[in-house]
Amino acid sequence: MDRRGLSTPLTLIEPEELEDSRAIGMATYADPSGETGFRFPCNYLDGACCTRYEQWRPSVCSGFLCAVQLKVKKGAMTPDDARAKVRKARLLRDSVAAVLPEGDIMATAVLRYLMADESDVAGSTANLDLTVRMFVLQRYLDAEFRPKRDTAPDSDPVP
Ligand code: SF4
Repeated sequence: MDRRGLSTPLTLIEPEELEDSRAIGMATYADPSGETGFRFPCNYLDGACCTRYEQWRPSVCSGFLCAVQLKVKKGAMTPDDARAKVRKARLLRDSVAAVLPEGDIMATAVLRYLMADESDVAGSTANLDLTVRMFVLQRYLDAEFRPKRDTAPDSDPVP
């Protein structure tokens, strides 16, 4: 299975915010329908924190609610259950962080993983432990946190 279809959410940016988004250094991509957005994690993510929180960022950032937040908002999940899911996600994230090569950062490692295809993974047994831990983390985030509507089947970089 091509993992790109499974784990590369394209978060759409309002057309009128595209230029400003690129100006702050966000890499943008077009999906097959021509809509444009960025892939998560963006380069402003540091661990679990947005480093552009106090500055301008695309409006989709401040308006975004993950699947867990949406369920709590609708009353379909208790806040305690939501906190338990966040705790588990953090444990899985920490498990990945513990085996990152020296000098690597989580945002880069996640992006590299999401952009890889099967031949990249098959050809590299050097860091199998990292790949397996990252796979488990991404599957958990896909299942619990990522709204299904944000998952694009494929997307191409915008020049
Ligand atoms: S909220 Fe911050 S880290 Fe998240 S996508 Fe927006 S700019 Fe990037």
